[in-house]
Amino acid sequence: MFGNWYLLLVTLFVAEGANIGRFWHITDHHWDPYYSQNATEPMKICPSSYGRHIPDAGPLGDYKCDAPWTLIQSSIHAMKRIYPDPDFILWTGDDTLHTGEQDFYLGKEKVIEIIGNVSGAIRGVFPETPIFPALGNHDYHPKSQIPPGGSDILTAIADMWRPWFSDTAYDTFKREGFYKEYLPGSTQHIMMILNSNFWYDSNKAVNGSGDPGMEFQWMESTLQEAAANSHKVYIAGHVPPGYFEMPSDYRKRWFYNHYNQRFLQIIREHKDVIAGMFFGHHHSDTFRIIKDSAGSVAQCVLIAPGVTPWATTLGGVVNGSNNPGIRLIEYDKDTLHLRDYSQYYLDLAAANQESQTDPSSLWKHEYNATSTYNITDITPQSWEQLASTMRKGCESNGSACPSTFTAYHKMTSVSYDTGACEVRCQKFQLCAITEAETEGYESCMDNWGNHGERMRSSNLAGWIILIASILHTSLSFIANIST
Ligand SMILES: [Zn+2]
Ligand SMILES: [Zn+2]
Repeated sequence: MFGNWYLLLVTLFVAEGANIGRFWHITDHHWDPYYSQNATEPMKICPSSYGRHIPDAGPLGDYKCDAPWTLIQSSIHAMKRIYPDPDFILWTGDDTLHTGEQDFYLGKEKVIEIIGNVSGAIRGVFPETPIFPALGNHDYHPKSQIPPGGSDILTAIADMWRPWFSDTAYDTFKREGFYKEYLPGSTQHIMMILNSNFWYDSNKAVNGSGDPGMEFQWMESTLQEAAANSHKVYIAGHVPPGYFEMPSDYRKRWFYNHYNQRFLQIIREHKDVIAGMFFGHHHSDTFRIIKDSAGSVAQCVLIAPGVTPWATTLGGVVNGSNNPGIRLIEYDKDTLHLRDYSQYYLDLAAANQESQTDPSSLWKHEYNATSTYNITDITPQSWEQLASTMRKGCESNGSACPSTFTAYHKMTSVSYDTGACEVRCQKFQLCAITEAETEGYESCMDNWGNHGERMRSSNLAGWIILIASILHTSLSFIANIST
């Protein structure tokens, strides 16, 4: 009780004099234009099902399918209904459906058409709002194979997004898929939109070495210049650094290792000028701590959940679906200090049972970061405090994970019920959250729970888990997966 009063007082105190702004962060819409609720075969209900059993597809979608148009539209209208006049909208990509037969269901024209329709829907509802779109790995054909130096697809997308770009941003985006802009109403604060698809290890148009599109060099010079001018920078993109967090058959890092290291090094070197980092691609609600060389927190990557409820096909993941989510971030417009976010969501199973004419009214508030996690703001220091408390508690004794971890685990699937998160699940989640670098992640995974009392005791269950984990690791290999 005192904690709540204290938080309230802190909030009131900080609110005084702060120039508060809000922006939406939306991501991973993955429109499946083939979605057909009343079809009988899974592939006819949605090709994004990959043939998986679909017992009761609903009007707003299904947990094994990408989003039907009704869901996409309801999410955008829900944004308008909940907070109609944001300072801007950050949109971190992935518009097309997942399919194993992309030449049949997609193709260049179809990909461009889908991006055009989703862009048009956002522009139609928010005609005056500045939008910062980022390119997702699914915003290309073939998916993820985005070459440096531009392409006809990139040109088509740049032309589509032209009304949202300054002249310089348009030119940079058309050439390499990244750009920077001043935040609305500012001549100081910068939104840097990355094309992190250049570092994604599924992208065979690059080879894991060098500096594709000279993007690292561009990042460094932009951050140096911002520091020299005392400006602040938000960094956003689609594919994030670090590892996927769902328990699976793999230890799945997204970037080629060399690019992961270089990216993290740049962030470390310029941590003071970076005021926030926002990514998508996971479809889950999670975050990543980036440490400095001394092991202290340098930055935090906030990963927003997707609009698509689609269950990942990553091998070994059980129940990898999520409810559709949209995120409203609260910040200080003068300093870019990150204050809080409100997560909104659609309980898809429940919403499919409703017969509302306007499904946007079915979107509900899920949680606020500060009150749910008992943190004072959403800066890297606060996330690090949360992450280390969770890791310390869960690692010392899985059954003694703090209540914040239980809350986190519910939110990571956007309140879709994935069952309890036992020791293996805790390890996957917390190693991914706290270790973005390969060496630290591998060590966390290999040595989870092998500290303190647990190792000193002759806990049979602990040994069985350890041996199973070693056997499991030895069978791991890199998956060709799609997210
Ligand atoms: Zn995606
Ligand atoms: Zn993606």
